[in-house]
Amino acid sequence: QSGDARAEQIPRYARVNTIMWTLDDAVKYFISQGLVLGAPLESIKAFAKDEHILNLLLFPPQTTFHDDPAYKSGKLILQDKASCFPAVVLAPPARKDAVVIDATAAPGNKTTHMSALMRNMGKLYAFERDRKRFGTLTMMLSKAGCKNVEPVNLDFLTVDPLDPKFAQATHILLDPSCSGSGIVNRLDHLLETEEENQEAQEDRLNKLAAFQLTMIKHAMKFPKVSRIVYSTCSVHATENERVVRAALLSDEALGGPFHLASRDTVLPAWQRRGMPVEMTDPDDATSLIRCMPGEDATNGFFVSCFIRQHPNPVAAL
Ligand code: SAM
Repeated sequence: QSGDARAEQIPRYARVNTIMWTLDDAVKYFISQGLVLGAPLESIKAFAKDEHILNLLLFPPQTTFHDDPAYKSGKLILQDKASCFPAVVLAPPARKDAVVIDATAAPGNKTTHMSALMRNMGKLYAFERDRKRFGTLTMMLSKAGCKNVEPVNLDFLTVDPLDPKFAQATHILLDPSCSGSGIVNRLDHLLETEEENQEAQEDRLNKLAAFQLTMIKHAMKFPKVSRIVYSTCSVHATENERVVRAALLSDEALGGPFHLASRDTVLPAWQRRGMPVEMTDPDDATSLIRCMPGEDATNGFFVSCFIRQHPNPVAAL
């Protein structure tokens, strides 16, 4: 099956931006437009509530929103289901004194999602190193009404974890650049590359994995961080389980070691988990989430969550 054919089977997902709208009002809005809640998605007039992600709606795959006033005003954010998992797993606190970091933010889908989960309270620093993508990020933040986000046009790796401005961060989201191999309309290209030049591809994946590991290790240096979510839209173990496995062996953490959050705090209702053969302790795979393109009604995706029970008592002073 071609990537395009698979893309045609993925529902059109739209997240209700709860900073500006409620799920109930969104449902009423679509019903008033003649859509039927809960009808089979094969019907062009159908829509549904997602069973795993609160405030996420599903529409038939061919649905377009470009002229929809709710989309144009920022009330509705077009975001694949799997890409909603990281913010939900991170569960950033909705408190006035919350300090949270999105290390790799543009275009801002997950940043706006976190901002909504924080109910626009506290502080969310959103780093993006690319100047042009930073511009897209700031536009998206303003369109979505995110007032608790401070976008920062910096390379996350240059940020000093002990800088008083950022050292209070307790939650970090890391969704760094990856091969993108899980994105369905890129799958055909992936197969061609695999056949044509296996060696070059392995080399590229190893370079990406080294960068991804460096990013996780840097996040682990923030003295008060107790929860780090690492995600990719890759299907390769090299960028997923193997990076997580290496990060668990890292001794970079300033405030004690990290381990994986247990399955019951990492979308327990989601059935597809990580690959046991890739982990030092095969049981750790149940803590990891995978999505298979074409099989899970999403793009290919991977989510992991590191936690630290006892932040460094010295750093906490
Ligand atoms: N989380 C975003 C979303 O959901 O909309 C998508 C992030 S995209 C996969 C990765 C982003 O990280 C790119 O925009 C890239 O420019 C940025 N990036 C890569 N390395 C970075 C670094 N060291 N510091 C800050 N941003 C970085």
